[in-house]
Amino acid sequence: MPSSEFRKFGHQLVDWVAEYLDHVEERPVLPAVQPGDIRRSLPASPPRNAEPMGQIIADIDRIIMPGITHWNHPRFHAYFNSTASGPGILAELLSAALNVNGMVWESSPAVTELEEVVLNWLRQMLGLPQEFWGMILDTASTSTLHGIAAAREAMEDLNIREEGMAGRREVPNLRIYISEFAHSSVEKAVITLGFGVNAIRKIPVDDRFCMRTADLEAAIAEDRKKGIRPFCVVATVGTTSCTSIDPVPVIADICECENLWLHVDAAYGGSAAIIPEMRHILDGCNRADSFVVNPHKWMFVPVDVSVLYTRKPDILRRAFSLVPEYLRTSHDNAVRNLMDYGVPLGRRFRALKLWFVLRYFGWNGLADRLREHIRLAKLFAGWIDAQPSFELLAPVHFGTVCFRAHPSGMNDEQTLNTLNEHLLHVLNGSREIFLSHTKLNGRYTIRIAIGHIKTQETHLRYTWEFIQRELKNLQA
Ligand code: PLP
Repeated sequence: MPSSEFRKFGHQLVDWVAEYLDHVEERPVLPAVQPGDIRRSLPASPPRNAEPMGQIIADIDRIIMPGITHWNHPRFHAYFNSTASGPGILAELLSAALNVNGMVWESSPAVTELEEVVLNWLRQMLGLPQEFWGMILDTASTSTLHGIAAAREAMEDLNIREEGMAGRREVPNLRIYISEFAHSSVEKAVITLGFGVNAIRKIPVDDRFCMRTADLEAAIAEDRKKGIRPFCVVATVGTTSCTSIDPVPVIADICECENLWLHVDAAYGGSAAIIPEMRHILDGCNRADSFVVNPHKWMFVPVDVSVLYTRKPDILRRAFSLVPEYLRTSHDNAVRNLMDYGVPLGRRFRALKLWFVLRYFGWNGLADRLREHIRLAKLFAGWIDAQPSFELLAPVHFGTVCFRAHPSGMNDEQTLNTLNEHLLHVLNGSREIFLSHTKLNGRYTIRIAIGHIKTQETHLRYTWEFIQRELKNLQA
């Protein structure tokens, strides 16, 4: 592509993005397509001859946009909202242009060194200890996989890296403990690492959906008696369903006493610790062996940036380092080669977008925005509390509120579940807002996640009025 053409279409696309960001709110959050609609609009075979760039760009509006769910929309409240902010988007452009691959320090020194520096900044912002060393991965699922792989490697006597686990009489059944509310990515990691799903023991939660530590202790004792070897506990700060916070300080005591690896999944909730008065949510996490937080969830960095911190990088390295001849360099003794600490060899320049976002907003700017989201979530929870036809179903710690409609006189749980499922269906069917759901104590629960950088009180008032109106319509 000649630079004249690149400039022309580059400017056109930047204008398109600016226009999109300015006016996204005028679009429905959800697309009006059925499965297969987008695929059918695309040719089934590849273009034999070159096509004009103008035509390719025109197809964005014609074919792609009708099938987009607008995550970057202030009324997107499903899952955990995720914002791609301006500085993050610009950094993505630059990262694609540089197209560097930070496999080893030498393959692009700035990738390794910016990542080190930026993750050290983030560590300070989160109040984590200096000995925590971090690296960027694509998702929390991958970060957790690496944390648990390190936990496996920490059982040095089993020599699993060299000998595997299959067919070895000397390898006992191994056990990892999670709460009933841990994210499914932990189970996937356990499957991938070859422990088998049965290696997981789910510990019950209390009435605030936090892991019961007495049950954890009892489970460990019972397993040891049976000859099962416990090796890891995963605690969550900000569970996916309802953002509950496991009692990490007590879990850390248990892990220390039982010599177990402690992995903390703070993929969503961890970001809130950059607010000075919220730092307590990470109490005890300074004692974790590994810890994950996702700036792409609630720090305005475009997908994908997940950060894995560990106080034991040498164990992670022992688990993964494997250096083929062509990747040996003269600097190997003086630098960290990031390929040594995980599965991927290739490494995008993801630190760039985190660096742009941290500098553009500043620590205070980010903290102010997250604080506002928490204020909005508490305000919304207050509206629910004050409306007799609705009820809160979980404590509000961050920017997420779990609730359901509960009209007076309607007390059958099955009827309430059906009503709420129907209500959510109608709300999302409007395409004007996007909420998600979970089940808490068997109750169908509607979840509103507030975390978009442009979400304001007016958006929430709109949504709240809409929800009340639709409930009335359903009951009419
Ligand atoms: N952990 C928690 C607590 C989550 O809420 C999620 C996703 O929402 C994940 C892990 C998985 O995140 P990712 O999509 O980055 O793998």
